[in-house]
Amino acid sequence: MARVLLVTGAARGIGAATARLAARQGYAVCVNYRDSREQAEAVVRAISADGGQAQAVRADVASECDVAALFRVVDRMGPLVALVNNAGILGHQGRLLDFDAARIARILSTNVVGTMLCAREAVRRMSTRQGGNGGAIVNVSSAAARTGAAGEYVDYAASKGAVDTFTRGLAQEVASEGIRVNGVRPGFIHTDIHASGGEPDRIARIAPSIPLGRGGTPEEVARAILWLLSAEATYTTGALLDVSGGR
Ligand code: NAP
Repeated sequence: MARVLLVTGAARGIGAATARLAARQGYAVCVNYRDSREQAEAVVRAISADGGQAQAVRADVASECDVAALFRVVDRMGPLVALVNNAGILGHQGRLLDFDAARIARILSTNVVGTMLCAREAVRRMSTRQGGNGGAIVNVSSAAARTGAAGEYVDYAASKGAVDTFTRGLAQEVASEGIRVNGVRPGFIHTDIHASGGEPDRIARIAPSIPLGRGGTPEEVARAILWLLSAEATYTTGALLDVSGGR
């Protein structure tokens, strides 16, 4: 039976690149999406055309009910060996003074609560203590967890700081149960997320201050994620890998 990898928020950007690369490496990929059904189905079609296995499943990771339903589909696909907590959102750029409680709660719900709910379901299935065969989890954080994103989105940055702390804690909690938990911290990656922050050309503005002189591609982040999931990384857990061009 195929080894199953769940990638949350995999309809586009870093999640879609991760799903495509994972399928090429032999995983059966559960392509989760929330709103972008057509794009998720396009990812699945591309994987199938390439000879891989994938299924698109709608779920809002911030909803406990949706997450439970998502994992029931995963269970039907085969044994879950890997999870990439990639789904993430940010709000329009601004200062804390501009942010209301609804916005902050929305960001924390997807980025922090969603990550924890999906990790919990994965641990329930993977833990050798619960009868599982072990596995690996990668949480997609952000360089913003280090920088704080002042004047842009301190709420988003703080949510990613929580993801980093959660990654380190959970890694220690489940290390003896056959599960490795790591994080990647992308920097400035060419995806639609910058448009959702209100500045589609954000990377062009920042590129001169990036030591490697450019933004990264979703594929460059996907390769780091797949390495952390792989048997090449069996002694790596609780690590936070910066994929940010040196900045
Ligand atoms: P993106 O192109 O905006 O994609 C985000 C994905 O997350 C979308 O597929 C979206 O799905 C999904 N999503 C959002 N909320 C969701 C929810 N509640 N439930 C399920 N799926 C949800 O952004 P991206 O740049 O690829 O971002 C991927 C991850 O990388 C995020 O965690 C982001 O914070 C992180 N990151 C990105 C950068 C960067 O420069 N691009 C830098 C640092 C960190 P729908 O479209 O279906 O709603």
